[in-house]
Amino acid sequence: MTYGPLPETDLTRHRRLREQGSLDRADLDAILDAGFICHLGVIVEGRPMVVPTVYGRDERQLYVHGSVASRSLAAGAPVCVTVTHVDGLVLARSVFEHGVNYRSAMIHGIPRKVTDPDEKTDGLRRLTEHATPGQWDYARRPSRKELAATTLLALSLEEASVKIRTGAPDDGDGPDAALGLWAGTLPLTSAWGAPETDPLLPPDLVPPAHIARREGTRHG
Ligand SMILES: Cc1cc2nc3c(=O)[nH]c(=O)nc-3n(C[C@H](O)[C@H](O)[C@H](O)COP(=O)(O)OP(=O)(O)OC[C@H]3O[C@@H](n4cnc5c(N)ncnc54)[C@H](O)[C@@H]3O)c2cc1C
Repeated sequence: MTYGPLPETDLTRHRRLREQGSLDRADLDAILDAGFICHLGVIVEGRPMVVPTVYGRDERQLYVHGSVASRSLAAGAPVCVTVTHVDGLVLARSVFEHGVNYRSAMIHGIPRKVTDPDEKTDGLRRLTEHATPGQWDYARRPSRKELAATTLLALSLEEASVKIRTGAPDDGDGPDAALGLWAGTLPLTSAWGAPETDPLLPPDLVPPAHIARREGTRHG
């Protein structure tokens, strides 16, 4: 497998809004690292199903997990995974030119069920650490029974695409500029709040540093 620029295959070639496409793998890495929720699109019993789910990753593959009973976590069939970050609304002079500033990634592939116990544990560690760095060493790790109840899928990051839109509306130099309407962008950011302690805990048990220090930091 190569690990250079993102490949332009029949699946990943942008057909519309091509100017928003990027073949820079660093852009893919940045989008994946900025989030921890993906949308997993699968065909289940002949019908499409899109499941929001947590992910983790290493350099070459994305990990998703869930119950062994999950119908969406079947290995061996094509899936399409997206990760999306919304950076703001693009409010143009015309409704037609309205849009969204965003960073998004789409990964196509056939996931592999991870069965090797060491790889499975490492994949679950990556998944946990991706959402909450420091938590794998803090929380109790999965028991053998819990591992057996969990499906872990690995999806190669080889066939992936990226799209990014930034900046002002596109109609500032068109005929609608003469309308004299306000146009611009409305940025959207999301940030972590203050940890809320489980009321069942004794009051002197404070959040560990790896959780407390995220308060106020940006997500996405
Ligand atoms: C938050 C958000 C809101 C959007 N809203 C709209 C909207 O209202 N209307 C609209 O037309 N478009 C919107 N887009 C863009 C949309 O996701 C598609 O890129 C675009 O519509 C082209 O679709 P298509 O079916 O022609 O894809 P094609 O260009 O035919 O797709 C070909 C291949 O390009 C890649 N690709 C396509 N879209 C993306 C993507 N977003 N990210 C990464 N890879 C991609 C995939 O690998 C795909 O298989 C939005 C995107 C985001 C992230």
